[in-house]
Amino acid sequence: MGRENVENWSVRKCSKECAKCDKEFVDKEVLFSKLSFDDGEYVRQDFCAACWDKGNPGLSSWKTTFIVPPPPAEEAVKKENAESLLRKLLTKENEEDLNAIFILMVMLERKKIFIERDTKKAEDGRKLRFYEHKKTGESFIVTDPELKLDELEHVQEEVVVLLGGQPRNAVPEPETPTEPTASTDETD
Ligand SMILES: [Zn+2]
Repeated sequence: MGRENVENWSVRKCSKECAKCDKEFVDKEVLFSKLSFDDGEYVRQDFCAACWDKGNPGLSSWKTTFIVPPPPAEEAVKKENAESLLRKLLTKENEEDLNAIFILMVMLERKKIFIERDTKKAEDGRKLRFYEHKKTGESFIVTDPELKLDELEHVQEEVVVLLGGQPRNAVPEPETPTEPTASTDETD
């Protein structure tokens, strides 16, 4: 299997053909994407409807639609926005960027650029969220830092600064990303 140009560990592109029968996907074809954790790495496989094995869903899987990727030239002229910043931070793979990455993802999900596909607990106990880019079909794997409300505000301000805006300005407020717990566990 050709692993062309893997940019970073958390973004996996949609294949152009079925992982089993090698049939090339056509625009708008319904296919099945499967993520597995294999040898310390996330592996994504895409299957045509005929080859999809429901009984073997891997770490996570979902049904999606193949979209012919837009030409790369379009990307080059875009200025820095939430999406390009997200991609940049993911490429750097810095642990300290996890909070900002998560906030950006929440912003982009609200803008309907990404759809959340699944959540899973990683082996180290951290919560992983799987997102799919609506236009390109790429899978994004993001660690949910499970921020508390006050931390959330702080990280949002950082992100706005990174985006070239001013802190404490009209920030699109992400919805509380974690499920509200019935009883609050405040320490004091
Ligand atoms: Zn197939």
